[in-house]
Amino acid sequence: MEVNLSVTVRDSWSLGRVVAIEGLSGGRCSYHCVYCGEVETAPTTKRRLVTPVAGALRVAEEAVESAGSVDHLVVGGPGDPLLWTGFHSFLRRLRFRFNSPIAVLTPGPLVSRSSIRAGLDSAEVVIVKLDGGSTGTYRAVASPHQGVRLTRLLESLAGFARTFTGELWVQTVAVPGLNDGPGDRMKIGRALAVIAPGRLIHGGPPATELDASATAWRHLATGIAVEEAPAAATAPRIGGSEGDDRSGRSVIRPCWLV
Ligand code: SF4
Repeated sequence: MEVNLSVTVRDSWSLGRVVAIEGLSGGRCSYHCVYCGEVETAPTTKRRLVTPVAGALRVAEEAVESAGSVDHLVVGGPGDPLLWTGFHSFLRRLRFRFNSPIAVLTPGPLVSRSSIRAGLDSAEVVIVKLDGGSTGTYRAVASPHQGVRLTRLLESLAGFARTFTGELWVQTVAVPGLNDGPGDRMKIGRALAVIAPGRLIHGGPPATELDASATAWRHLATGIAVEEAPAAATAPRIGGSEGDDRSGRSVIRPCWLV
């Protein structure tokens, strides 16, 4: 069985110096976001052993050892790493072997499963996505697997935020024409208030341009950190322009802005 992962060392504006371990889902995702340039397959929630755990560990451990001291080990990247059935064993082993805090990047739908929530306890930070606060907008931007429901997602993320010993962060990206109107922003703000994350990372056109008085975020807990991802991290990467988002995937953005 082929070992599906890539390991890079880089500087992150939000997580510091990181070793990023990516590609563990073998290109599968629970979403099919309108701005995605990484995943071409239909969204799925079926978990598979797409890469051998021992092989993935050997590659990752060698890379982490040679990187030396870093601020975080980042596990995730494009695709949903929770779709890999080896994920929890992999994460536990990383926690056992290394002292660096672990940040997991996952779109979020699989966090609704209690066994998966339990396995995330090896991480210090879990980052999920939320690009819509109503069912229509959520589905228009994320195109989740048909079995995923926004209300269930919000409940499960809120429950996770209450019990998780680390910190839950949420990333939201404004997509022109799909979720950047005043009503859309308010609904995203209310949904975020339900989840009560420790930090909100905002990407796309700056939140301060879309909502100068930050009305949309007024329901968030006092003290929550709302941070704008640097423009370089949010810029469209392939063709198109901001105004092309409405037409589908003509504007491609990174999956994660951290
Ligand atoms: S942008 Fe990320 S979460 Fe969305 S479909 Fe692509 S890989 Fe999945």
